[in-house]
Amino acid sequence: MRGLPLLVDGHGREHRDLRVSLTDHCNLRCTYCMPAEGVPWLPKATLLTVDELVALVGIAVEAGITEVRLTGGEPLLRADIVEIVAGLAALEGPGGHPEVSMTTNGIGLARLAEPLAEAGLARVNVSLDTLDADTFKRLARRDRLSDTLAGIEAAGAAGLGPLKLNTVLMRDVNTAEAVDLLRFALERGAELRFIEQMPLDAGHTWTRDGMVTADETQAWLEQVFHLEPVPGRGAAPAERYRVRPRGEPDATPLGTVGIIASVTRPFCGACDRLRLTADGQLRNCLFATAESDLRTPLREGAGRAEVTRRIHASLASKLPGHGINDPGFLQPRRPMSAIGG
Ligand code: SAM
Ligand code: SF4
Repeated sequence: MRGLPLLVDGHGREHRDLRVSLTDHCNLRCTYCMPAEGVPWLPKATLLTVDELVALVGIAVEAGITEVRLTGGEPLLRADIVEIVAGLAALEGPGGHPEVSMTTNGIGLARLAEPLAEAGLARVNVSLDTLDADTFKRLARRDRLSDTLAGIEAAGAAGLGPLKLNTVLMRDVNTAEAVDLLRFALERGAELRFIEQMPLDAGHTWTRDGMVTADETQAWLEQVFHLEPVPGRGAAPAERYRVRPRGEPDATPLGTVGIIASVTRPFCGACDRLRLTADGQLRNCLFATAESDLRTPLREGAGRAEVTRRIHASLASKLPGHGINDPGFLQPRRPMSAIGG
């Protein structure tokens, strides 16, 4: 391995992880993400093609990125998803091939898990907010729970692991399921991660009081389980805990659970993530209000040096934190579905 170049921002944080949104379209309408009617979609001509994605991510990998996570919108809606994964997994930089993973709602994974694994996809995070079909319909505004569950099984069978499941708890909707969701994950050898709802929905419906906090979630879990912190978090967003039956701190762990407390326990100090939107804009934070256009220079024939310069310029302007808890916080113009969660 050649020496890994450093993608360091003005606060000394090394960046290794690139989140790539492949589309802003979705087959669900999760209430914490999109309004029922959807959002004004990005113009089709602005979406990066397979070749453009491979070119831009290739430059980022050469610059020091080692992990690429595909997201959206729903990344499995791209008809060329297998081709995209194959192109990105074949890239090689000073750190070797990047690890390519994906965050998905799982719909379509029953059909695609095997070809994606063959194309080089390493693992998936599947979003699962409920095990109840009616609650799914209410939360995601579509009747697709069985498709998501089939996707989870297919991911396991295709070896797309270690499998992670993502849950956003919404008050009076799915909070009562926290323990059942964790049991479901533990039985499958998956790690469930509870994500605090963030102010990123297009409908601007987030409120601090309405949000379920990490402390509340932990308290519900601790009624049934003993949680022991796992040390060595590094740049990971999730605080991880070994899970044992309550009152049995010496028992063999049943597995692990993660808590992503973006709002109440921000972890910006260790952030190692950059984001590329489906229309080729580089963002240095989920909550950034500015973006750096990589699509236009690429389409106008800019070479590796110019794109790399823009990546470093974006890093240099990265703020120390997301500012959600500051009185003057402004939600970014783009909703989560168009940034890539
Ligand atoms: N459609 C895919 C999915 O749902 O997994 C990928 C994109 S989605 C934006 C990525 C992750 O962001 C999901 O786990 C989703 O639950 C989470 N998410 C979306 N909106 C959120 C919000 N307002 N706060 C916290 N997490 C959110
Ligand atoms: Fe779609 Fe994912 Fe947003 Fe739900 S969270 S609406 S599945 S992009």
